[in-house]
Amino acid sequence: MLDPATGERVGFAPLQSVADLEAAITAAQAAQPGWAALGHAARSEALLRAADAVEANAEELARILSREQGKPLNGPNARFEVGACAAWLRATAATVLEPETVVDADGTRAVLHYRPIGVVGAIGPWNWPMMITVWQIAPALRMGNTAVVKPSGMTPLSVLALVKVINQELPEGVLHVVPGRRDVGAALAEHPAIGKVMFTGSTATGKSIIRSSADTVKRLTLELGGNDAGIVLPDADPKAIAEGLFWGAFINTGQTCAALKRLYVHEDIYEDVCAALTEYAANVPMGVGLDEENVLGPLQNRSQYEIVAGLVEDAKDAGARVLLGGNPDENQPGYFYPTTLVADIDNDNPLVAQEQFGPALPIIKYTDVDHAVAMANALEVGLGASVWGTDPDQAHAVAARLEAGSVWINNHGAVNPMAPFGGAKQSGYGLEFGTEGLKHLGQPQVIHG
Ligand code: NAD
Repeated sequence: MLDPATGERVGFAPLQSVADLEAAITAAQAAQPGWAALGHAARSEALLRAADAVEANAEELARILSREQGKPLNGPNARFEVGACAAWLRATAATVLEPETVVDADGTRAVLHYRPIGVVGAIGPWNWPMMITVWQIAPALRMGNTAVVKPSGMTPLSVLALVKVINQELPEGVLHVVPGRRDVGAALAEHPAIGKVMFTGSTATGKSIIRSSADTVKRLTLELGGNDAGIVLPDADPKAIAEGLFWGAFINTGQTCAALKRLYVHEDIYEDVCAALTEYAANVPMGVGLDEENVLGPLQNRSQYEIVAGLVEDAKDAGARVLLGGNPDENQPGYFYPTTLVADIDNDNPLVAQEQFGPALPIIKYTDVDHAVAMANALEVGLGASVWGTDPDQAHAVAARLEAGSVWINNHGAVNPMAPFGGAKQSGYGLEFGTEGLKHLGQPQVIHG
């Protein structure tokens, strides 16, 4: 694996095959009844110990993550991501899912329980590789399932290192990781011994997984791509929201599923918002992740770099106004694309209509809030969205009209381990986090009587 900031070798990851996957699934199947029999309290304790182990190894994990993924140590990046792993392990351990009495009248009684599903497959992306692995495996383990993880081929070392630490606190055979190519992911998605797949990645791959899971009627949680809109209402204070808008869009250098990817600003304050955002963005340091001063990093891989660069070039050709960036240094060793803000851009420009997944934010002017809502809702995806303004009633009224699984007011993308998270439309289905998240890792069973 090569460091996307420098091109230097980070290390070698084993490349495993479908035969290795078979062995992992067999071992996970064998371990599952014993793990389930431990009960909720013992499994929660194991997750709490795993959180402590992650914390004890936090700096080493953050450095591996920074070098392989590219994200800086500081800012909402590598150290933050490792911290989130510990936080989500703890929150998942603390969440309780009690059996629910759904009928209790006239001598009839029915109680809804959640049983283990069996072996859960976890397939993840390269943008937040450690945190998303924890999002997938923590509720799976908590509910008495064992798990087999297939990390992204771009970031296997990060996931291998994380799983090694977590495994210090789990019984043998409960948690496996199989670094492999797409064929290993596809084999996991169609394997008859896998009861559920937790998938986070692109919408296109999500659709492949739906197809390959069909023959075994597998349960799926799909956290797919997004192209989140933010709507700035005319009563917003441009200077006050600039920092929040910036991090909503540029967290992890824009490589975040629920990041602000299209910003709609009312014409009355359009120039002021553009100016405030440009002023804030111009001063945020980007560079090699291990340098303590940086809080923005490179794109993780060349193909993502090319997507971002191509979209910005097309926007320029179409006459959009570049407020900042848009001029990458082609002679540098890493995949650095500068922080880029693009104004006066049409809503149907590809930089708006497609998921850029990088540090280039289009800012679209609107006149009428109804039209902004229509533009925000016009795409096939709906992961997150945000509304920015000073009148809470108005902001909530607009939020209610947005077709997205999460809508933030005066913020974008702040996830919470107790608030369910999932997509609308083609951003996926199923929920993660909190009690709802646990329910999605259990097989519902109603006992009558
Ligand atoms: P990707 O879809 O290319 O790959 C994700 C994973 O799927 C990888 O591990 C890959 O090896 C595996 N895979 C590829 N083809 C497969 C197949 N046919 N069957 C089974 N597995 C297969 O996604 P990516 O490029 O790694 O991640 C970026 C995308 O993920 C973006 O679209 C982003 O929005 C999305 N994402 C969504 C969320 C969310 O919570 N909704 C979070 C992070 C990223």
